[in-house]
Amino acid sequence: MAHHEDDVFLGIDLGGTEIKATALAADGRTLWSGKRAAGAGEAREAVLARLIEVAAEGVRAVAPRPVRAAGYAIPAVFDLATGTIELLTNFAGDWAGFRLRDALAGGTELPVFLINDVRAATVAEQAWGAGRRYSNFICIAIGTGIGGGLVLDGKLYLGSRGAAGEIGHQTMVPDGPRCNCGNRGCLESVASGYAIVREARAAIAAGELPLTGEPTPHLVTLAAEQGNAAAQAIYRQAGTYIGRALANIVCTLNPEAIMVGGGIALAGDLLLQPIREEIARRTTVFSPARGGVEVVASPLGDRAGALGAATWAMREVGVEPAAVSIA
Ligand SMILES: [Zn+2]
Repeated sequence: MAHHEDDVFLGIDLGGTEIKATALAADGRTLWSGKRAAGAGEAREAVLARLIEVAAEGVRAVAPRPVRAAGYAIPAVFDLATGTIELLTNFAGDWAGFRLRDALAGGTELPVFLINDVRAATVAEQAWGAGRRYSNFICIAIGTGIGGGLVLDGKLYLGSRGAAGEIGHQTMVPDGPRCNCGNRGCLESVASGYAIVREARAAIAAGELPLTGEPTPHLVTLAAEQGNAAAQAIYRQAGTYIGRALANIVCTLNPEAIMVGGGIALAGDLLLQPIREEIARRTTVFSPARGGVEVVASPLGDRAGALGAATWAMREVGVEPAAVSIA
């Protein structure tokens, strides 16, 4: 086995509002962090230029240590074999059919590996976070949308075309609200950040939630913590839907743990408690004596995407991350 102490890997996480970047060594040390505005409303070329620019900044920051490869975490469905974008929701530019991996490799002059953003976070939790304790676990990220990742028998499971883990698009409510994917009643359409905002608007209109201006999930959280019943009911309903979707996955895959991350998960027990209760209620095939399934908050939080993208690049070039926790 070759020595890899000097290998540096860039991880770049394209979020809806920010691009977060990190330079990671195989021993788990973070050597640099950077960020940029994502500019999701801008043309494709502007976003692409920033994705390349932030990598160049990372290369300069860690010099003279060479960067071996870059991983990009993308909130998209894309073809794993060609690195071609199929669907990049929440970005205004013309992305469908764009060969993103080739464009990034050309611009950065580095080997580039793409991974879905929540699958990246799953890789980070597996290598460096709470996932180190488990061989079988599920990550769910609840933000503007809902994404997921699966680790089965110690390996990230990507399915036949790289899209396994799209747990936000299970149908929960036939003929429910329209989802960004085109289906109706997806988990995402009834339990994500935009669903919470929609329910909050309805509660405000009904005079049950005393918020002025545009509601945000954070304002709903504050109102719930101050005892507002409508705000508490909004989180209870979202958590119950999420718990029900996860219970179906628990019955299918029998994981040891579920890690809940994403901005909406910052609501803490307002969301986690109904998730736990609904999973317990709906997974009666599993004897409580066998321990059930742990539901834990993601310990790496919003660093997980960039760390996971770097770790994905590391693994793709054959470097195994050190067995240490950095959570
Ligand atoms: Zn959907």
